Amino acid sequence: MAGAPRSLAVLGGSPAFATELPVGQMYFPPWEAYEEAFRALFDREYYTNHGPMAREAEARLAEVLDVEHALCVTNATIGLMMAAKALDLRGRVITPAFTFVATAQALTWAGLEPVFCDVSRTTHQMTPDLVAPLLDDSITAIHPVNLWGGTCGPSALEALARAGGVHLYFDSAQAFGCRTEGRPVGSFGALEVFSFHATKILGTGEGACITTNDGDLAERLRNIRSSYDIRSRVAVPVTTNGRFSEAQAVLCLLSLDEYEGRRRHNISIRDVYRAGLADVPGIDWCEPSGVETSNEQYAVCEVHAEVFAISRNVLLQSLKAEGVNVRRYFYPGVHRVPPYTDGGEAPSLPNTDHLCDTVLQLPLGALVTPRDADRIVELINEIHAGAEAIAHRLRS
Ligand SMILES: *Cc1c(COP(=O)(O)O)cnc(C)c1O
Repeated sequence: MAGAPRSLAVLGGSPAFATELPVGQMYFPPWEAYEEAFRALFDREYYTNHGPMAREAEARLAEVLDVEHALCVTNATIGLMMAAKALDLRGRVITPAFTFVATAQALTWAGLEPVFCDVSRTTHQMTPDLVAPLLDDSITAIHPVNLWGGTCGPSALEALARAGGVHLYFDSAQAFGCRTEGRPVGSFGALEVFSFHATKILGTGEGACITTNDGDLAERLRNIRSSYDIRSRVAVPVTTNGRFSEAQAVLCLLSLDEYEGRRRHNISIRDVYRAGLADVPGIDWCEPSGVETSNEQYAVCEVHAEVFAISRNVLLQSLKAEGVNVRRYFYPGVHRVPPYTDGGEAPSLPNTDHLCDTVLQLPLGALVTPRDADRIVELINEIHAGAEAIAHRLRS
């Protein structure tokens, strides 16, 4: 073997990684802790309907996020649907298209029409400058996304929403544990929704929470969720089953204990990528924007084909062949998928389109080590060096 260069998998060699490395976090508690907590759950014979673990999880989350009310729900998509109903929104809502499709789908479920807003080319976030021209009488709310373990600078958007007399609530699915403007993300706008999906840093398999300092709004959300803990019945347009099971709550409490360790593990991986990719021409490493502390949940880069000599899609294909399960978050843009393409032309969102063509997510989380990250950097360099051979191979 010595001296003979290994052939890239995309050129017919064997994959660098025998087991695929995922982009999602996949953090779960050690089996022993999990077993003990679940034994107690079975001993109590209390499985759902806002049980003792769900109540404890909500109390812990409210404390950690420094907010009056944290309501746990089944998942963030349901949480976003419930949020739109609790705010009793009607009409059109300004939201980015550079996001996970659930942001817009939840609006559609709630009978609202998304008005897609472009994002900053540098931070990837929605900005007041981009939102302002879209504000008119038909707009009922602004619904930004706090992306990549960063934020869109919530207080500037709060000022814009106040001036425009419209509601503001955040999709903070990716922002659990982030801090900005001197406090945790969780108490900006009317409410915020966090996801605890297995791909997020605080994972309960499926799960989420909605946070707010507005007591009336919290009461409406509880009523919509059907938690059976309603103290005063408040009028809501519709209800659903958005309950958080005791099993989810147990995982949530264990995840909260482990959160800082997970964040540090992600930092150790991100440090390798940042240093290693700094010298690779055409690969731009992206730092989370608008935060004092990030949850370090993502490893994001942009691939500029003119300089890297290979397109983002070919790099993706080449890395996947090596067992590196990189992802195009988000591709295609939400404005280019049904039902949002039904009405004819997609809106002009040049930065969103550019990012959909250049952004690549690299693996991190529980199943990835700093050594793996080092090997991935090496592979990216090897793929860059092999650009001509790869282009030739893919043509034939
Ligand atoms: C993960 C995610 C969601 C959906 O969360 P679920 O809990 O899986 O429903 C929504 N919006 C964004 C921005 C996300 O990253």
